[in-house]
Amino acid sequence: MDLRIAFIPVGRFDVAEAEAVATRVAKVIHGTVELREAAPVPKAGDEPARGQHLAGKMLGALRADLPRLKTTKRVGAAPGAAPVPATAEAPDLAVFFTDVDLYKPGTDGAFGEADLRGKAAVLSSRRLLEAFYRRKTDPVKQRARLVKLTLMILGRLRGLPDCGDRACAMFTTAALADVDLKPEKYCASCWHRLSTGGFRI
Ligand SMILES: [Zn+2]
Repeated sequence: MDLRIAFIPVGRFDVAEAEAVATRVAKVIHGTVELREAAPVPKAGDEPARGQHLAGKMLGALRADLPRLKTTKRVGAAPGAAPVPATAEAPDLAVFFTDVDLYKPGTDGAFGEADLRGKAAVLSSRRLLEAFYRRKTDPVKQRARLVKLTLMILGRLRGLPDCGDRACAMFTTAALADVDLKPEKYCASCWHRLSTGGFRI
């Protein structure tokens, strides 16, 4: 797939974790993912009283920051591939990763938010952590959750709807348990739509 996809860690989000997710996603999409310089946590959307960020507002500010965040690495590129250009050229799709807790109006909390028109999304690791539910930390499970949510949000940004196939990353996700049941792949139909862009709402 020759879409230009950029992953951007925000604030204190672990860069190594973003790269690990990028490696897994690059494998699934048979393509590459650009890692960008970390973006600062925006003031926009910050709600200190709730200890959370309003996801949509935060995403808006992050998107505005994107043009000055340079690519640091291309993940999933074949050995001997051309070196990464030191530009901050606009990607086709951008996913920001944050460790701050997000919410949307009318919710207690959210895994993330997508701006379909802006072709950008933000995902939070906070509610993917076992510790959030007062359970023992499970890095393997937590990372798998982030990979699956990333696959789903990329599909969303390409205009894909929920999928009825349980064995697909686009299967409806209402709760964390649904994420855990999904595989790290797209069904044949969603993959076709995603890779060819042959789907319009
Ligand atoms: Zn599907």
